[in-house]
Amino acid sequence: MARFFLPSRQIHANRGTIAGQELGHLRKVLRLKPGDRITVFDDTGWEHEAVICSLAAAQGEIEILSSRQAQRESPLQITLAAGLTKGEKFEFVVEKATELGVQTIVPFTSTYAVPKLDERKIASRTERWRKIALSAAKQCGRTVVPEVLPLCTFQELLIRPSHEGVKLFFWEQEAAQSLDDVYKKHRDAKAVTLAIGPEGGFSSAEAELARAQGFDSVQLGRRILRAETAAVTALSLAQFLWGDLG
Ligand code: SAH
Repeated sequence: MARFFLPSRQIHANRGTIAGQELGHLRKVLRLKPGDRITVFDDTGWEHEAVICSLAAAQGEIEILSSRQAQRESPLQITLAAGLTKGEKFEFVVEKATELGVQTIVPFTSTYAVPKLDERKIASRTERWRKIALSAAKQCGRTVVPEVLPLCTFQELLIRPSHEGVKLFFWEQEAAQSLDDVYKKHRDAKAVTLAIGPEGGFSSAEAELARAQGFDSVQLGRRILRAETAAVTALSLAQFLWGDLG
């Protein structure tokens, strides 16, 4: 059954109102009609079976028939900070990170990051990443849509509040410490922040700064992975060690 995201503020008792991107998906893409059944999930972890009551250009009304609390979210809170890469590659990372259960995605620019974007491009790409996160969350059965934060600099990323648990940065020049080593030091971690560099990697100065701000450097084996491979691998391993994979 088709799944739609409906924030809880759009649900009152057993009635819900669908608008915007979700309404377009329902009416224009799937061509659903009043009487059709759908699944909706809200932003509080609940999933509802519903029937479409009415559909108009501006909004649709649904009636909720039953609700349950779905258990598909990982106990591990993951923040993925990813260096900006070109168009499709970053979109791939947003989609796969959502499937792998990330909570927050922080895109950042850094010394060796390409492309350099102007304000307008940044806004339109951020908008696009948010749409990708929403549709990936719908497709994979998640009950949380990951938040895609505004693009920041690597320095800004480093000074974010440190409630995000164990802070790691994946450095292609780190020879010693593996993720398993980190796991042995922090077995009970409930949250991790994973920073992955752009295609050009991190500079030594950036690595220094990251350490000074409490990030631990980690290697992902002896081969150099592409940025998007590194992101998917780091997420999978973190979910395996602390979360709900494997
Ligand atoms: N241009 C760099 C490689 C960058 S790879 C070089 O040639 O050295 C892009 C990002 O993926 C890196 O910044 C890092 O965060 C991650 N990465 C790739 N391979 C890695 C590895 N073996 N260990 C740790 N991180 C890795």
